[in-house]
Amino acid sequence: MERMLGKTQLEDLETHDCHVEGCEEQCMFGILMCPHHWAMVPDDIVQRAKRHLAAYAVDGQRGSLRRWQRAACAAIDAVNAKTSG
Ligand SMILES: [Zn+2]
Repeated sequence: MERMLGKTQLEDLETHDCHVEGCEEQCMFGILMCPHHWAMVPDDIVQRAKRHLAAYAVDGQRGSLRRWQRAACAAIDAVNAKTSG
């Protein structure tokens, strides 16, 4: 029992549901969406998100983090728009 509980807690820390509405795929911490949904994001938004995330990894600045978050939201919105229509 204890081992099962420990495993569950660890998984909760390291993974989360895909951010697309209605998708329950588990994603690693820091990865917004499951690979299936990332594949639906327009390429320019993917490139933007990657660039900002890489910039944040290097400089650790709040501004870089906000640009990454905006690109991430745009990516999620783009997929939600495709899947809900
Ligand atoms: Zn998903």
